[in-house]
Amino acid sequence: MLDCDFLVIGAGIIGLSTAWELQQRFPQKKVWVIEKEAHEAFHQTGHNSGVIHAGIYYPPDSLKSDFCLRGNQAIKAFCGEFNIPFEQCGKLVVATNTTEKQHLQQLAIRAAHLDINIALLDQHALKQKEPNITGISALFVPDSAIVNYRLICQKLVELIRQHNGRVIFNQTVEAIEEKTDNVAIKCITKTFLAGKLIACAGLQSDRVVSMLGTQPSFSIVPFRGDYYQISNKHNDQINHLIYPVPDPNLPFLGIHLTKMIDGSITVGPSAASILRVRLMIHQCLILKIAWTYLALKAYILCYINTYHQH
Ligand SMILES: Cc1cc2nc3c(=O)[nH]c(=O)nc-3n(C[C@H](O)[C@H](O)[C@H](O)COP(=O)(O)OP(=O)(O)OC[C@H]3O[C@@H](n4cnc5c(N)ncnc54)[C@H](O)[C@@H]3O)c2cc1C
Repeated sequence: MLDCDFLVIGAGIIGLSTAWELQQRFPQKKVWVIEKEAHEAFHQTGHNSGVIHAGIYYPPDSLKSDFCLRGNQAIKAFCGEFNIPFEQCGKLVVATNTTEKQHLQQLAIRAAHLDINIALLDQHALKQKEPNITGISALFVPDSAIVNYRLICQKLVELIRQHNGRVIFNQTVEAIEEKTDNVAIKCITKTFLAGKLIACAGLQSDRVVSMLGTQPSFSIVPFRGDYYQISNKHNDQINHLIYPVPDPNLPFLGIHLTKMIDGSITVGPSAASILRVRLMIHQCLILKIAWTYLALKAYILCYINTYHQH
């Protein structure tokens, strides 16, 4: 007998919102979520900039663009319905030289095609909106907002459970066996039998695909991003999210100043290849070992000298 009709792997924002949507569409079906960590939003979802993006960056007619535009409205509606605080603070993408200004104008044209509410500001208008930010031009995106995605996930867990679903923590999916009319999802201590499986495993998605004996058609290149928090006494220095003009050759939005929903301001994220970070950790370890070895050797020599003198 099936444990559930739909089993979702991963209690990040994607897994939980998928499970919640399934419950809305199929109220008679049993929806379960399995998560390897002890609580929801443990990985990427709980460590992002907390921005509800307005969709200015993505190519028109792409799924990303469609999801981002509809997602902007859907997240705000969800927060409104369930009393989750969000702030429509708006965002400024700031150009500091003429090349960036040209890229900014292209972004503005794309945003206008998508019917996104924007305004191009000159230096003077930028100074009026943000006295502490210097640039030659800026794109103002009023629909960008901020939220705490962990709170959204907590609410989703609560809702899924209230609607007879289950969110099971501390269960790592280790193997998957697909049969004609069900899927066996094997964790260390338990096996779950589901009608359908939806994998929302974030950066581990390729591993989950491999569990089915299929070589994934994509590969995940992990990057580590660090944020710094500005001292609280400077929390009133900016009024909007402040972004640079993205470098079209890089898949990142650039280091930005983010107003967080708790009032703090962060700077980040950096982007370091995980392989490089690991290499740096190894190099530090080697240096530490070398240092300990030299210190120990010096101590032993010192001890032997003293011993001989006596
Ligand atoms: C630096 C940075 C900043 C960002 N800022 C923003 C932002 O401001 N706004 C925005 O909208 N987006 C932002 N994003 C993107 C956004 O954070 C991600 O797209 C989103 O969080 C992905 O959610 P997810 O559910 O797919 O993944 P995750 O949150 O990583 O969830 C996947 C879950 O699957 C679980 N899992 C994996 N394997 C298994 C297994 N075998 N068994 C059981 N469980 C498993 C993991 O433990 C994890 O909890 C940012 C991304 C980055 C990198």
